[in-house]
Amino acid sequence: MKYDTVVIGGGLAGLICGIRLTQSGLSCTIVSAGQNALHFSSGSLDLLTQLPNGHVVEKPLTALDELSEQAPTHPYSRLGKLEVIKLTHLAETLLQQSGMKLKGSSDENHYRITPLGHKRSTWLSPEFVPTVGLHQKMNKGKIAVVGIEGFLDFQPQMVSAELQREGIPASAHYVHLPLLDRLRENPSEFRAINVARWLDRPENMAQIVAEIAPLIADADTIFMPACIGLDSEEPLLELQKQLGKPIYLLPTLPPSLLGIRLHETLLRQFRRQGGIIMPGDKVTSVNCVGSCIESVTTRNHGDISLKASQFVLATGSFFNNGLVAEFDRVYEPLMDLDLCHIPPRAQWTNKEFFASQPYMTFGVQTDQQLRAQKDGQPIENLYVAGAVLGGFDPLTEGCGAGVSLISGLHAAGEIIRYFEQQKALQAEVTP
Ligand SMILES: Cc1cc2nc3c(=O)[nH]c(=O)nc-3n(C[C@H](O)[C@H](O)[C@H](O)COP(=O)(O)OP(=O)(O)OC[C@H]3O[C@@H](n4cnc5c(N)ncnc54)[C@H](O)[C@@H]3O)c2cc1C
Repeated sequence: MKYDTVVIGGGLAGLICGIRLTQSGLSCTIVSAGQNALHFSSGSLDLLTQLPNGHVVEKPLTALDELSEQAPTHPYSRLGKLEVIKLTHLAETLLQQSGMKLKGSSDENHYRITPLGHKRSTWLSPEFVPTVGLHQKMNKGKIAVVGIEGFLDFQPQMVSAELQREGIPASAHYVHLPLLDRLRENPSEFRAINVARWLDRPENMAQIVAEIAPLIADADTIFMPACIGLDSEEPLLELQKQLGKPIYLLPTLPPSLLGIRLHETLLRQFRRQGGIIMPGDKVTSVNCVGSCIESVTTRNHGDISLKASQFVLATGSFFNNGLVAEFDRVYEPLMDLDLCHIPPRAQWTNKEFFASQPYMTFGVQTDQQLRAQKDGQPIENLYVAGAVLGGFDPLTEGCGAGVSLISGLHAAGEIIRYFEQQKALQAEVTP
C-alpha cells in the first residue's frame, strides 16, 4: 500500500495534518492505535495562557516574542512568530470548515467555566460551553445549575457556590430521571457518554422536559453537565426549545462528550476529503533506508507494509505511549528518537504539586523544521507534531491544543511544499 503520506497517530495533531494534506489533494492514511487526548479533554482549545515565568497571557499572538526569549526550545519559538501566526489563523479556518462551531479568537483569550465553576483561560470553546470575556462579568441572569441524580462526575452545588462567590446569582438542583435507573444500578456505567445515549433518544425528551421544567422556573439560564448531544446538537437544541431557556454545557470527567464531538467532527472531515483512517491499528516498526523512512509495518497489516514519501509522527505524550518512562529512563518507543534534554531522575518532578512539572516538557528533539532526529542526524522525511514534541509544558503554559494544531499544520505545509517541488522538477525534465 502506497500513499503520499502516512501519519502515525490520529489525535488532534495527526487529524489536522491529515485534513490539510487531503485538502491539498495528497493521499494520506492515518494509523491510530487507540483513544486520544481529545476523549479526555475539556473540548476547549488552548493556544497560550501563561509564560514560563508565570506571567498571564491575554493576547497569545503578541506574547510570542517574550515566549521565544524565555523558552527558545518551545515549538512556537522554533517555528518563529510569523509561521505561528499564519498557522493559528489557518487552524481557526480549518476547524470552522470542518463543521466545528467554536467561539473565541487568537486576538484575545477568554474564560471558560470549568466543571467546578472556576474560570479558566483558553483560546476556542465549543458553542454551548459558558464563556466570559477576560475583563467582563458573566451576564446570563439567574443561573440554574442542574445536575443529574446519581451522576457523581458533576456536582451542581460546587458550581453554583463558585458562581455565587463571583457575585453571579446561581442555584443548584438535581433532576431525577427514571429513564436513567438502568445506569444507576451500575455506577461505573454512569458516565457522560452513557447518559447522553439515553438523553439523546427523541422518545425520552418529554420525560426530561417534565422533570427539569419545575426546577428552572425562576431561572434565566441553565447550566448542565455535557451529557446530551453526543452525535449531533439536535437533542440539545430541542431541549432548549422546549424549556424556553438557553442551556450551556459544562465539561465532565472523562470520557468527555465535548472532546469526542470535536474528534468525530475532524475525523468526518478527513474522511470526506478522501483520507484513510486505520483505527485500532498500531505502527510497530519503521523501515529506514539511509536517513529516510521507506515504509512502516503495522500490527493489523502484518507483512503488508505502508509505503510513503513522507511520514508524520503524532503519537502523543506519555498519556498515549508516544513517550515511555521507566524508573530512570525516558524514550520514544517506535524509533528511539533523540529526545530534548532530560535532567537527572531527581529533577523530573517538582515537589510543589501545583508548580510546572519538568517531565511535562520531555519529548522528541527536532530541527527547526520539526523533523525528527536520531543520533544527532535528521530523518529527512519524518516530521513530528503534537504532544510527542519536547520543549513545552501544555498544562502550565496552556498551549496543548495550539501546539498540536500548529505543529500538525506546519508538517502538512512542509509536505505540500515537497510535493510541489517534486511536481515542478518533473515538469522540467518532461519534454
Ligand atoms: C487528559 C488530557 C486532557 C487534556 N485536555 C486538554 C484541553 O482541555 N485543552 C487543551 O488545549 N489541551 C488539552 N490537553 C493537551 C493535549 O495534549 C493536546 O490538546 C492534544 O489533544 C494532543 O494531541 P496529539 O494528537 O498530539 O496526541 P494524542 O491526542 O495523545 O494522540 C496520539 C494518538 O497516537 C496514537 N498512537 C500512539 N502510538 C501509536 C503507534 N505506534 N501507532 C499508531 N498510533 C499510535 C495514540 O493511540 C493516540 O490516538 C490534554 C491532555 C491530556 C493528556
